[in-house]
Amino acid sequence: MSYDSNNIFARILRHEVPAKIIYEDDYALAFHDINPQAPLHVLVIPKGNYISFYDFSQNASFEETKGFYGAVKNVIDQLEIHDDGFRVLTNNGVNGGQEVPHFHLHIFAGRPLGRMIQSP
Ligand code: 5GP
Repeated sequence: MSYDSNNIFARILRHEVPAKIIYEDDYALAFHDINPQAPLHVLVIPKGNYISFYDFSQNASFEETKGFYGAVKNVIDQLEIHDDGFRVLTNNGVNGGQEVPHFHLHIFAGRPLGRMIQSP
């Protein structure tokens, strides 16, 4: 599977599609999810063209990796959610339920988030 440069997050990265952006640096962009699943639901995406967590983990450079996870930490600091707690999640591929084929981390916060995975 090759990277689709017209996926919605690629278009948000190019500022072709509006998003409620809360953070941007050389390595990452963070914005509010359009369909929030918690009082606070933010997505953090790398600037490079990576399809998934696995693709990013396999192919991103050390600098990109360090830059991306540093950005995630900066977003957590900016949101001031460290003390109350939060959840970071990524969906990868079909069984992971990934809908958008550009690697993204979800950050959920704002209330107790319950069990990690609902029973089927
Ligand atoms: P996934 O299932 O791929 O892990 O999550 C994709 C997320 O992207 C979903 O939570 C969905 O609500 C969000 N999303 C999809 N399209 C858009 C959009 O155009 N703008 C924003 N801000 N979020 C989107």
